[in-house]
Amino acid sequence: MDPRILREIEAIFPGDRILTGLGDRYTYGFDASFGQYLPELVVQPQSVEQIAGLVRLANDHLIPLYPRGSATSLSGGPLPVKGGIVIDMSQYPKRLDVDRENLLAVVTPSVITAEIHRAAESVGLFYPPDPSSSHVSTIGGNLLENSSGPKGLKYGTTKEYVIGMEVVTPTGEVIRVGGKTVKSVTGYDLTRLIVGSEGTLGIVTEAILRLIPKPPARRTLLAHFPRLKDAGYAITRILSSGILPAAMELMDNACIRAVESYRPHGLPTDAEAILIIEVDGHPSAVDEEIRRCEELCLAQGAGGCKVAENEDEREKIWMSRKMVSPAITRMGPTKISEDATVPREKIPEMMEHLKRIKEKYRLQLVVFGHAGDGNLHPNIITDERNREEMERVEKAVGEIFEAAVSLGGTLSGEHGIGILKAPYMEMELGREGVMMMKKIKEAWDPNNILNPGKIFPAPGQTKVVLR
Ligand SMILES: Cc1cc2nc3c(=O)[nH]c(=O)nc-3n(C[C@H](O)[C@H](O)[C@H](O)COP(=O)(O)OP(=O)(O)OC[C@H]3O[C@@H](n4cnc5c(N)ncnc54)[C@H](O)[C@@H]3O)c2cc1C
Repeated sequence: MDPRILREIEAIFPGDRILTGLGDRYTYGFDASFGQYLPELVVQPQSVEQIAGLVRLANDHLIPLYPRGSATSLSGGPLPVKGGIVIDMSQYPKRLDVDRENLLAVVTPSVITAEIHRAAESVGLFYPPDPSSSHVSTIGGNLLENSSGPKGLKYGTTKEYVIGMEVVTPTGEVIRVGGKTVKSVTGYDLTRLIVGSEGTLGIVTEAILRLIPKPPARRTLLAHFPRLKDAGYAITRILSSGILPAAMELMDNACIRAVESYRPHGLPTDAEAILIIEVDGHPSAVDEEIRRCEELCLAQGAGGCKVAENEDEREKIWMSRKMVSPAITRMGPTKISEDATVPREKIPEMMEHLKRIKEKYRLQLVVFGHAGDGNLHPNIITDERNREEMERVEKAVGEIFEAAVSLGGTLSGEHGIGILKAPYMEMELGREGVMMMKKIKEAWDPNNILNPGKIFPAPGQTKVVLR
């Protein structure tokens, strides 16, 4: 970096909040997805003024900036793909105030999401968005990816819980969007625009989150199915019966076997699929609903059901689901984690497509996910160094997206577009749809300095996993 520009940056970030060593820069060059890119430097802002000053400087000198939380992104969101400066928001001062009377929490972006769960629950409240990474990812990253998890089925995603924010715009202004009121229809809804914008429209420095009362009871069951197809039909039968479970998770046979060989939980390794269903609410309703779910699973061909009778049994069921990611990681050195999402009634059809793609391209393709909301996670376990296999992976990934979109679904239900899905944007939105989004980006960020290379494909960019 030009020494004069570096001196200007040092004037904004006194002390040890600028990292320029190769080792540090390397550490900030990857996330939980693919690829390694070297930033020129990394800063750890401690105030909104520092961020605004840096953004103005970056505009003057046309330096790319990349906000970053814990870098658990599975789509390449915080990667410094065009050099420039990484803004490490995980070291931003932490603030987490729960306002019980107004059912709100005011947080800074560096707070780890699980800390919000704990703080809310300690006063009888509930913050529902629960990505599996909640013990490590920041609320900032969750907001910008519009993250969710098993509870998305009943409670919705992060965007349903963010009602206000403080944001540094890509031209260095500090603005407030939304506020502390649950209702707000003053002008355009910039809060919703920024949530899920993957760090391309602003740097979030504070958020106001809506909390809800904690449901007083919950019950969980595990059902296993000899035929995967029947698990799909059981999901749609339960949802059309009028019961809205808090979560409905699916694991296919490959996931079941992977978990059993990694950390045995007594799962039936001959089952084609497992469903984990949780209902919550008033204790008497919860008891009745879990029994009804059990009956519906058995009527749809489940080989057996087990309702957890206490918290230990419930924990054990959920632990088997949480073990899927680490367990399948042992199947090969490279994990490509997709999150193609379809309307729920299309789940059985999507599962058939995935089976066909797996056989056609001879790949280790395993499927698990938040089946209740159609959010499937087809994961391909491969080896980045095997060029021939990666070419098959590339084609398989393209066909997974085609299948999802052709069934009325979407490229991403959770992980965002980042760099990995950018080439497929037109497939879902059409040329005009992408163009309208680009116009918004150009109006907010005329010099394209904030998180460039994300969401929108570079001209001619076609490859996803091959570089
Ligand atoms: C094991 C594992 C399980 C996962 N499970 C789930 C899941 O169940 N559901 C789910 O939705 N996701 C899941 N993810 C993906 C990931 O955890 C989420 O996308 C998470 O929200 C990212 O948070 P982060 O703090 O790591 O952000 P990062 O990965 O650092 O950044 C994510 C995006 O947010 C931007 N950003 C971060 N902070 C700011 C800020 N303050 N201002 C502006 N932009 C910012 C970045 O530029 C980037 O585009 C999982 C990931 C892993 C590794």
